[in-house]
Amino acid sequence: MKRPFIAGNWKMFKTCPEALNLVQTIKAGVYKTTDCQIVLCPPYTALGALHAILQDSSIELGAQNMHPETEGAFTGEISPVMLKDAGCRYVILGHSERRQFFQETDTFVNEKVKTALKYSLIPILCIGETLDQRNARQQFEVVKAQFEQSLKDITKEDIARVVLAYEPVWAIGTGKTATPEQAEQMHSYIRRLIKEQFGDDTASRVSILYGGSVKPDNIGELMKKPNVDGALVGGASLKAESFVQIVLNACACVEAEARK
Ligand code: PEP
Repeated sequence: MKRPFIAGNWKMFKTCPEALNLVQTIKAGVYKTTDCQIVLCPPYTALGALHAILQDSSIELGAQNMHPETEGAFTGEISPVMLKDAGCRYVILGHSERRQFFQETDTFVNEKVKTALKYSLIPILCIGETLDQRNARQQFEVVKAQFEQSLKDITKEDIARVVLAYEPVWAIGTGKTATPEQAEQMHSYIRRLIKEQFGDDTASRVSILYGGSVKPDNIGELMKKPNVDGALVGGASLKAESFVQIVLNACACVEAEARK
């Protein structure tokens, strides 16, 4: 039975008191759920406070970005060492908002992936096509190029530690979700790319998350698909009620599938 992996990307939302309030309610809501890997990625300012409050919980902490250098004159940036120090185990890399608004390239993302792994941070690497690219039927070549360039020079041992997130840009924050069939088609394609480069065993160990307007009422159908291992959730992770319900529905769906 697969273990759902549900990560919340809080983006540039939540002050520290708001973040603490949200995490307390999420913690209480998922208290009995042991069969789900939950990761919360708040803004940097809330990392320390959340780390303290999550000490007695299985919920893990992640950051939303990172600079590839360990230290230096990079005003406004944050290093992997600092994220480890703040209690992070995960870091989102290559999010489409970073690519779109901050001109991050696959080469830069690749540097970040390598440093994250070196400092024992698990990258949640985001890849996905824009609407124009999908309309031009280029989604597979776009995702392949992002996969190959962002993971350039990554070893077989290291890829097994990477979490991939397929996030079609046209589905992020738009309320438009990829259909479960569209998600499965791309997830199985990504799984095949891993298999071709790193072998069957490694491919089956890598979690591939879907991201793009995931909500309590669509997570179940997505999780039924064999290559969808979980979700990266943006908007719906900002409210405890919807995030908790996504976790509970994902678990219920996986259990129901296993009983069939
Ligand atoms: C995201 O930011 O990674 C995301 C998937 O956002 P949303 O769930 O709001 O579409």
